[in-house]
Order: sequence, then C-alpha cells, then structure tokens
Amino acid sequence: MLNEAELRERVRAFLRDSDPTRRQDFLNARFDAGLAWVHYPEGLGGLGLPRSLQAAVDAEFAAAQAPDNEPERIVIGLGMAAPTILVHGNYQQKQRWMRKLWTGQEVWCQLFSEPGAGSDLAALGTRATRDGDDWVVSGQKVWTSSAHQAQWGLLLARTDPDVPKHAGLTYLVCDMTAPGVEVRPLRQFTGEAEFNEVFLSEVRIPDTDRLSAVGDGWSVAMTTLMSERVSIGSARAVPRESGMIGAVVKTWRDHPELRTHGLHDRLLRLWVEAEVARLAAERLRQQLAAGKPGPEGSAAKLVFARLNQEISGLEVELNAADGLRYDDWSMRRTERASFFGRGPGFRYLRARGNSIEGGTSEILRNIIAERVLGLPSEPRADKDVAWKDLPR
Ligand SMILES: Cc1cc2nc3c(=O)[nH]c(=O)nc-3n(C[C@H](O)[C@H](O)[C@H](O)COP(=O)(O)OP(=O)(O)OC[C@H]3O[C@@H](n4cnc5c(N)ncnc54)[C@H](O)[C@@H]3O)c2cc1C
Repeated sequence: MLNEAELRERVRAFLRDSDPTRRQDFLNARFDAGLAWVHYPEGLGGLGLPRSLQAAVDAEFAAAQAPDNEPERIVIGLGMAAPTILVHGNYQQKQRWMRKLWTGQEVWCQLFSEPGAGSDLAALGTRATRDGDDWVVSGQKVWTSSAHQAQWGLLLARTDPDVPKHAGLTYLVCDMTAPGVEVRPLRQFTGEAEFNEVFLSEVRIPDTDRLSAVGDGWSVAMTTLMSERVSIGSARAVPRESGMIGAVVKTWRDHPELRTHGLHDRLLRLWVEAEVARLAAERLRQQLAAGKPGPEGSAAKLVFARLNQEISGLEVELNAADGLRYDDWSMRRTERASFFGRGPGFRYLRARGNSIEGGTSEILRNIIAERVLGLPSEPRADKDVAWKDLPR
C-alpha cells in the first residue's frame, strides 16, 4: 500500500505526463489513474487507500493549479449517488456511471421528497409498475435540487402498495431526459431556483437501472441519506476560518468601527464552536471508509446547520444597515450549490434551508437519540419498522 510520500510522487508523475489544458481528457485520465478519490476501489477512480490520504492528493493537484471537477456543480453525484452505487450497484452499473459522475460529464439529482412525504419518506406515493423489462413510473417529486441540470435521478418509488410501507419501495435510477419527465423551477426566498418540482408521467425505466433488489429500496435509501448528511455537514477538508465563520471574521478585522463588546463575545464563542465542528468533521471523514457511513454524520450535519444559522445572523447584525440589504432578488437558475457565496443577506437566507435539507434537525435529533445514544424510540403510528430495526 502506498504511503503519503509515494502517493504525492505518483500525483507529481501524473502531472508531468498529462496536459491540464485539455480539461475533460485530464479529468478522465485522473480518474483512470486512481487519483480521483483514492479510497474508492481500483478501476473506479481509486486505489483502495485510506480516505485520509485524499487531502494530500487534492493538495498536489491544487498546488499545480490543475482543473478540478467543479465539485459544487456535481455535489449530489459525488456525495450521494456515488456512495450508493458503490454499495448497492452491480459491476455494469458501477462501470457505466462512476466515471462520468466523477468527471462531471453527468449531473445527478435526488428524487426522494414528495408533497406528502418528506420526513416521513417511507409514505411516498410515486408508483412504479413492472411492464416487461421496464418499470413504468408515475408521481410527483418536489424540492429536487439540480434536476434542471441532471442527466440521472436517484428515484425512490413504491412497487408494492400491499406490504408495510418501508418494505414496498424500490430504488431506481431515472434518466432525466426520458419522455414523461417534466422539471419545473421552484423559487426560493434568496431569489434562486436551486430546486424544482418534478412530474413523472408514465416514465419507462429499464429494470437494468434498478439498484439492489425489488423491495429493498428503503435500505438503499438509507445509504443515500446517511451519505447526504456527511456530504452536507463534513464533505471536504476545509482550512481554519473558512466557510461561514471566515466571512464574518474578515468583516470584523476589516471594519473595527463596527465592533461592540457584545458582538465580540458572540463572535469568539462561535469561532471556537466552528473550529471544534471543523476538527470533528475532519475526524469523521478519516474514520469513514468508502461506501456506507453510519448515523454519526447526522451529528455533523445538525451542528453545521445550527452554526451556519447563528453565524450568518451575527454577520447580518455586525454589518448593521448594510447587513439587511440584499443585492439581487431576481429569479436565477443556479448552476452550483453555494451556502457561503455572495453577501451576508444571501448567506443568512440560504442558511435557513440547512436545517431542512438532508433531513430536518428534529429528525436528526431523533436519529442521534435512538441510533447513537440508544434511547427509547418515540411513539410511531407505523409500528411495522422502527428505526432501530433499520440497516446501520
Ligand atoms: C434547500 C433544500 C434542498 C432540498 N433538496 C432536495 C433534493 O434534492 N431532493 C429531495 O428529495 N428533497 C430535497 N429537499 C427536501 C427535504 O429533504 C425535505 O424538505 C425534508 O426532508 C423535510 O420534509 P418536508 O419539507 O416534507 O417537511 P415535513 O416532513 O412535513 O416536516 C415539517 C416539520 O415537522 C417536523 N417533523 C416531522 N416529523 C417529525 C418527527 N417525527 N419528530 C419531530 N419533528 C418532526 C420537521 O422537523 C419540520 O420542522 C430539499 C430541501 C431544501 C430546504
């Protein structure tokens, strides 16, 4: 197994032999060399190395100013689709999807939430019915981030309405360009239409695009959701004072006239909490192997949401009258998910969504209570499957 020095040398050799001006070829070659995500298996963009070595690889590519795969544009593919396919996909599916996913040639979205099924996801009503070698899917999905750019959608659908609700679900991969898929923008209060509603009218999905067994959809969805929480709360190694706390600290340093003692105390407390969260996320990342994370990612995501909301609130206050000004309410179709971009007003408004997306903070507290701390589960109407019985 390569150590860090040998791995860095391998990246430098790769950089010497490749042409970064031909971006797509460069990314394809990086994937083929196993230098995409080193903790993934060989042949799927990795080298089967510990995840902790990825930071060294990324640092070498960044130092060489090599083109990257624009991770903010393909965040659902990288953070959710890939780990799900890795654990539940068959050989052909992995070979078919992983390379274009990592190199950014194909964008992925998540077709889970419905108007009547968000936190209670297993209540979803989108139906998939078998017809020969295909599934025929009809229903409505909502809050689907990036659906307007996506080639593929991770789709959870009901294939058997006659069994307990968690047992009647199947996980399919939907071609977003197939006939019957209609994507309509939903505008958020930032002005951006980052997400969409998606109408599925008799969409045909080949059975070869099913992940895992018929009726196994809930278990596959758990891999996606656990990965989503890690992806939102602790996706990548970040330097100290980056993200939300970075913006407010910069204003504090650049504008002494805005400072007050009260704000100073709050800023110090939040700075320390942000640093603790950053280090905890780093530890979590190092503990994770490729594939299926445990419920611990729920804690990272919970803290991430709370801190983003508190810090962005402090930033608005610190900027006084300017903090309340918002630069652009016009409707925009976003290409990249950004929590920290633009001004304080955007950051404050966008952070509201952090405690909803990827599982609400209330639901995450339930998961931590029941599955991490082992506390008794809350009373549920559906006693068919309790959280403690679900795959860990
Ligand atoms: C920015 C953003 C992007 C999103 N992107 C996607 C996407 O790409 N794909 C996708 O499928 N979905 C997406 N979502 C949807 C998101 O997953 C859901 O909004 C979320 O799961 C909550 O579901 P809901 O909106 O139906 O609220 P509900 O489930 O109706 O919840 C309403 C309130 O009740 C509380 N509540 C519900 N049940 C319980 C309980 N058992 N105990 C305590 N409190 C409870 C909730 O915490 C919440 O406060 C996105 C959401 C946002 C905000």
